[in-house]
Amino acid sequence: MTTHREPLDSVLETVGRTPLVRVHAAPDAVPVYAKLESFNPGASVKDRIGRYMIEAMLDSGELPEGGTVIEPTAGNTGIGLAIAAGQLGVDAVFVVPERFSVEKQQLMDALGAEIINTPTEEGMGGAIDRAQQLAEELDDAVVPQQFANPLNTEAHYETTGPEIWEALDGEVGAVVAGCGTAGTLMGIARYVREQEPGVHVTAVEPEGSMYSAFEGEDPVEGDYKMEGIGTHDPTTNELFEPDLVDEVVQVADRAAHRETRRLAEEEGQLVASSAAAASVAAVAVAERIRDGEIDAPHDAVATVFPDSSERYLSKGIYRSFEEWEG
Ligand code: PMP
Repeated sequence: MTTHREPLDSVLETVGRTPLVRVHAAPDAVPVYAKLESFNPGASVKDRIGRYMIEAMLDSGELPEGGTVIEPTAGNTGIGLAIAAGQLGVDAVFVVPERFSVEKQQLMDALGAEIINTPTEEGMGGAIDRAQQLAEELDDAVVPQQFANPLNTEAHYETTGPEIWEALDGEVGAVVAGCGTAGTLMGIARYVREQEPGVHVTAVEPEGSMYSAFEGEDPVEGDYKMEGIGTHDPTTNELFEPDLVDEVVQVADRAAHRETRRLAEEEGQLVASSAAAASVAAVAVAERIRDGEIDAPHDAVATVFPDSSERYLSKGIYRSFEEWEG
């Protein structure tokens, strides 16, 4: 837990060991537990990979002491990397598509990083190309590339997965998590499946996203308001391993928006839309386990709430569905 009992030397030591808290909308017979990642110092799940990737790249020599990390990022990864970079003496440059929330960009700036915006229409693909181009112009720069870097998955295999397993004494029946890069879900799934191969694994994406194409489905591509999960181009999601996933579930923006408000009103959880989508999907998986539709080794479901709603107030996350800009 982040309620550390002794003084710490650096904020980096507060990354991880987040609380695991029950979601009360789930049936009592099959409880859902959510990992509250807003308890990290940069208030998102991405602080884990920020610290893990930079430390690992410094250790291996891939990133020289005092070098530069350049990353295409929707924001949270930038904040996580910026915290770690600042504390470990590394420079940070982030390439961010314009549509992402201003709060995140202000935080990266405050942490001392440089931000370069790319046009929204070019999507994450445009940001990735630009980051590679910039890295070639500098000789001490590395692009961690969270969409393709096995260290992303490894961070969760080493930390998030074991934390969930230990908190539930190994009684994990299913794991449900939203996929952006898919590092969170892949790392947790790989760890828990090594302990208990029968654990049911559900990937969550917004309606309009294309992850379910990996499962042989033919999804209809469309826009969505949720931030942080989903893909328009699965060829960029190199970490997603279909063999580690039983199913991909789509959640509509409207259902996620309703759940964002319900979680606040009924459960005191100030979490954002990707957490709400995970909550909707995790509760549905718990109901299917209860009804015997999913054969899970234990009667408990673990999910991840990646960040806080406070980061999206400027986008009207708690206003009406129409006013929510996404
Ligand atoms: N939710 C939010 C708010 C995020 O920023 C991210 C990271 N893109 C995710 C969920 C998904 O995490 P991952 O990239 O590990 O799949």
